Amino acid sequence: GEDFVVTPWEVRGKVDYEKLLRQFGAKPLTAEEVALLEKYAGDVHPLIKRGFFYAHRDFDFILKWHGEGRPWALYTGRGPSGPVHIGHMVPWILLKWFSDKFGVEVYFQMTDDEKFFDDPEMKLEEATGWAYENALDVIALGFGPDKLHLIVDTKDIAPLYPIAVRVAKKLTWNTVKATFGFTDSSNIGLIFYPSLQIAVAFLPTELKKEPTPVLIPCAIDQDPYFRLARDIADSLSYPKPTTLYSKFIMALTGESKMSASNPDSAIYTMDDDKTVKHKILNAFTGGRPTAEEQRKYGGNPDICPVFHYHMLFDPDDASVEKIRQDCKSGALLCGECKLKLHEKISKFLKEHRERREKARGKVDEYRLSVKL
Ligand code: SF4
Repeated sequence: GEDFVVTPWEVRGKVDYEKLLRQFGAKPLTAEEVALLEKYAGDVHPLIKRGFFYAHRDFDFILKWHGEGRPWALYTGRGPSGPVHIGHMVPWILLKWFSDKFGVEVYFQMTDDEKFFDDPEMKLEEATGWAYENALDVIALGFGPDKLHLIVDTKDIAPLYPIAVRVAKKLTWNTVKATFGFTDSSNIGLIFYPSLQIAVAFLPTELKKEPTPVLIPCAIDQDPYFRLARDIADSLSYPKPTTLYSKFIMALTGESKMSASNPDSAIYTMDDDKTVKHKILNAFTGGRPTAEEQRKYGGNPDICPVFHYHMLFDPDDASVEKIRQDCKSGALLCGECKLKLHEKISKFLKEHRERREKARGKVDEYRLSVKL
């Protein structure tokens, strides 16, 4: 039977990332592709170098396309159902890196409609409110309005809708049912919604009036959308979207993915420093039950969320490698390791929150339909 389940709405069990690739039909990222990236970008982002982004569809194609001097764009999104945690920020950090290195524009979809359709308790104004609030975290990464185009679905539908209806006509109920696991009691908003998420992949081509494929850095659970997008792209005369997939961010509790229902499993960008420290100090670790055993046998960084966050947020390869070695040898105890992590996260969040507040009131300047 199934030992794990991954859909855009659910991650259950211990994820076997290689098996998932075979299930989905995406490709592992190879040394050749990473070398090609280095050729054009000058270096390779740590999130790719460390294997956190580990798979793709046609990443090599978009790099070669770039090499020919042809236009492309970046696309990602967020389901705005609550506050942003630092795990959400990870693919956005890579997005910013790509945008800077290659000078390309970013289309960022806030799917307030989807969150409204999906959660029986969610009010529409609430989801739209979260879209604005979450947009602050995206803008805080340092994007200018010339590079970041926000699409709040319920506000910026005009440029998207003609594409979405063409997409919707290509997707049958059978296909979306099989791809997303919809049932007869799924509301029809949710059933139509994939056409909107797919439409953004084709939007830059419409706006630029020439083939402008997108690169989508996101977590692997979003693959079903872009698999469908790629299947129908040709028949609509759009270039196929390309993707770069990450693994999931480990929960502080040690599970494969963070859950919105347990606030202690994640660090939110708006958590105050005391809360951040408390959460880190209480995190699950790969350590031994006693300091004595830890010194003697060492810990296990591979299953340790504290190590996972060092890996995600410390730009210095040597520093991360030293933590790994010192953990395994028993030279580093979990208490000290957690304090080191708190220092890094705390610094990151302090700067982030300042930039985030500066963005307040400016979200509309970034909205695509306001600029068009
Ligand atoms: Fe995790 Fe650090 Fe403890 Fe090793 S020393 S198990 S990396 S918290």
